[in-house]
Amino acid sequence: MKCPNCDLENLESAIKCDCGYYFRTNKIEKKSIDKIQKITVKSIKNIYVTGLIGFTIIGLIIIIHSLIKSFEGFLETGQILNNLPLDRFLLGISIILFGNLIWAVICEGLTLLLKIYEKKG
Ligand SMILES: [Zn+2]
Repeated sequence: MKCPNCDLENLESAIKCDCGYYFRTNKIEKKSIDKIQKITVKSIKNIYVTGLIGFTIIGLIIIIHSLIKSFEGFLETGQILNNLPLDRFLLGISIILFGNLIWAVICEGLTLLLKIYEKKG
């Protein structure tokens, strides 16, 4: 028996689906909806943290790479600042600062939308 609410396959003898849907009355238990939305908020937080780590690692790799280039140049010419690929260095910093900032705004917006949806429902 497939649940019409969440498409989960349930036993024929099942009274209620995991999502809170009652097969006999065709009604959805309110508490289970709250539970699902809490899980969704939680998973948005997980996605946010994953993105945060991702942006930071990418930014750091670019910064470290530009510093290595600068150091290689230093070994050849004895000048460290002239050999720093400034555009790449700044790109790395921008990804960490603005990437994470924009990412935070996106995830915060998603959570807010979910809360608004929760109030309407
Ligand atoms: Zn269901």
